[in-house]
Amino acid sequence: VTILAIESSCDDTSAAVCRDGVMLSNLIASQKVHAQYGGVVPELASRAHMQNIVPVVDTALKNANCTLAEIDAVAFTQAPGLIGSLLVGAQFAKSLSLALNKPLIAVHHMQAHVLANLIDEPRPAFPFLCLTVSGGHTQIVLCESPDKLSVIGETTDDAAGEAFDKSAKLLGLPYPGGPLIDKYAKNGDPKRFAFPEPQIPGLNFSFSGLKTAILYFLQNETAKNPAFIEENMADICASIQHRIVTILLNKLKKASDQTGIKNVCIAGGVSANSGLRDGLTELGKRKHWNTFIPPFQYCTDNAGMIAITAYHKFLNKDFADLSVVPSARAEW
Ligand code: ATP
Ligand code: FE
Repeated sequence: VTILAIESSCDDTSAAVCRDGVMLSNLIASQKVHAQYGGVVPELASRAHMQNIVPVVDTALKNANCTLAEIDAVAFTQAPGLIGSLLVGAQFAKSLSLALNKPLIAVHHMQAHVLANLIDEPRPAFPFLCLTVSGGHTQIVLCESPDKLSVIGETTDDAAGEAFDKSAKLLGLPYPGGPLIDKYAKNGDPKRFAFPEPQIPGLNFSFSGLKTAILYFLQNETAKNPAFIEENMADICASIQHRIVTILLNKLKKASDQTGIKNVCIAGGVSANSGLRDGLTELGKRKHWNTFIPPFQYCTDNAGMIAITAYHKFLNKDFADLSVVPSARAEW
């Protein structure tokens, strides 16, 4: 079974080809146009997808050494995401499916982030827990099979990626600031500044209080010393990262204790964070978990994760009708 998958939910245009669950290519074209605005501009994202999609799909096929005639199904991200961005991928996938007379597969972006863990060895055995931490979501997902995923905890306000990006903005760093905080944190002392851990019941998260605490802390310190941020960048970043990571890992620990599940994965863009990766590995050793972290290219938005999810849907004959429409929000 050979699947061509397209991901266009936000600001990356991506196409991947997978054969029998093995990834043959995964191409990601990032859009540079947004950096100057400090965030993704939806209308510009849709236009860039329009420009990118044909060359990206072409190159993904070429890299996979595969022709359109060999494709058995076309998959795309149906939801959630920016509606204009989703529409470009959806229309392209539908047209191709119609032209090739091959089935269409609609994929949920957040399920795909989780199932990115199934792309390469070592793969987690079911059931497993997945902490999905991305730009728009923070979820703990209980995975019983590829088509049986349930959210058992999530953020009540900002996502973990937003916590990183908004903190970075307060430090005067460009968007997206998450990777920069990670970079500075490598040379800093994570215990130098103590930021509060919110007390949120159950398995849910909250990050808006942390953002406010950081804002007041920085205002207070720069009033005393205008060069405070500059002089302490590494320690501030390490301390912020340490707090975000402990908030995430403490809830994950709670989820594992409650469910008794010791196969534990992470997914989403923030799973590229070195503090989280190291923290999970260390916690996993202490708790005797089997931990799984996807390779970098499958952490942030990518069509590879759409392709692997579509592969499992194909095996279940879970196909979409041409009347399917993308959606900005989606429950699951
Ligand atoms: P969603 O999947 O919720 O719709 P998204 O797809 O836009 O959101 P991703 O691409 O999965 O999100 O992740 C992007 C986020 O990951 C950004 O907030 C970015 O700052 C963050 N991020 C990426 N790398 C790192 C890193 N090394 N450390 C911290 N954050 C990071
Ligand atoms: Fe995403």
